Amino acid sequence: MTELYDLHCHSNASDGVLSPTELVQRAHQQGVTSLALTDHDTVAGLPEAQRCATLLGTKLIAGIELSTNWQNKCFHIVGLDIDPTYAPLAGATHKLQKTRLERAEKIALKLEKKRMPGAFEAVKNAAGEGMITRTHFAEFLISQNHVSTQQEAFDRYLAKGKAAYVSTSWAELEVAINWITGAGGIAVLAHPLRYKLTANWMKRLLTEFKAAGGQGMEVITSRMNADEIRMAADYASRFDLAGSVGSDFHNQANPYVELGRLAPLPKNIKPVWELFG
Ligand code: AMP
Ligand code: MN
Ligand code: MN
Ligand code: MN
Repeated sequence: MTELYDLHCHSNASDGVLSPTELVQRAHQQGVTSLALTDHDTVAGLPEAQRCATLLGTKLIAGIELSTNWQNKCFHIVGLDIDPTYAPLAGATHKLQKTRLERAEKIALKLEKKRMPGAFEAVKNAAGEGMITRTHFAEFLISQNHVSTQQEAFDRYLAKGKAAYVSTSWAELEVAINWITGAGGIAVLAHPLRYKLTANWMKRLLTEFKAAGGQGMEVITSRMNADEIRMAADYASRFDLAGSVGSDFHNQANPYVELGRLAPLPKNIKPVWELFG
C-alpha cells in the first residue's frame, strides 16, 4: 500500500466543520494512511479521532496548531507526534480557551458597534465545547448577510487592521515550541509562505525558530504552485529543516483543499515523519 500523509487539518474542536470521526473517515476515503489532527490551540478532538482511526486502520498522529507571537506578528506552529497529556501543554490549551473566549467578546462588541449584534451568542453556540475562532465570526457574518464569503468577512472586518480586529497575546514563539518539544513532539512552522515575509525576515524567523528547537516546516500545503514549492523547499534545505505536508483542510466547501490531495514532498527534503518516535 502506498503511504499518503496529511499532517495538518481541523475538526470541529476548532474551526473545522467535520467532527473528528467524520474527518478521519473522509481522510480514509481519500486514501490517507497517516493523518495528523492539528486543531487550533486544542487537543480535545484527538481521543475521538483516535477511536475512529483505530477502527479504520488509519495511523493518527497526535497534533496541534498553536497560535504564537513573534515580532508582534502571529505565526502558527504545528506540533506533531505530541503527548497531548503533557501537563504544560494541556494547561496552556485551557488558558488559550479563555483567551479565545475573551477575544470573542471583544470582537463581538466591535461588531455590535457597527450595528451587527448577536455575534457572541452565535459563535459560542457554533463552537460549542470547542475553540472559538475568527472562522466562526466569518460564518456568523455570512449567516446575517453582512458578507457573502469568508474571504470577504476577513477582508472587511476580521483581518488585522480591519474594523472588528482584536489583537491578542498568544504564546511567544519559543514558549510554544517548548510546549511541543516538552510533549515529545516535533515543532513545524505552518504554511511559511502565507505570512508574506521578505527573504530577510524569513531568514530571521527560521534562524530563531531553529534555535528555539523547531525541527520542521511545511514545504507542501494546499494550493501551492511549482515556484512556491521550490521556494519553500529551498528554505527547508538551507535551514536544515525537515519537510512536512499538510492540506490545512477545514471543510468540504473549498474545492481546492482536500484531505491528502497534496503534491509530493521534493526528493531532497527530509520527511518530517522520519523524526516521529
Ligand atoms: P483565529 O485563530 O481565531 O485568529 O482564526 C484564524 C483562522 O481563520 C485561520 O486558521 C483560518 O482558518 C481562518 N482565516 C484566516 N484568514 C482567513 C481568510 N483571509 N479567509 C478565510 N479564512 C481565514
Ligand atoms: Mn483555521
Ligand atoms: Mn494556520
Ligand atoms: Mn490550520
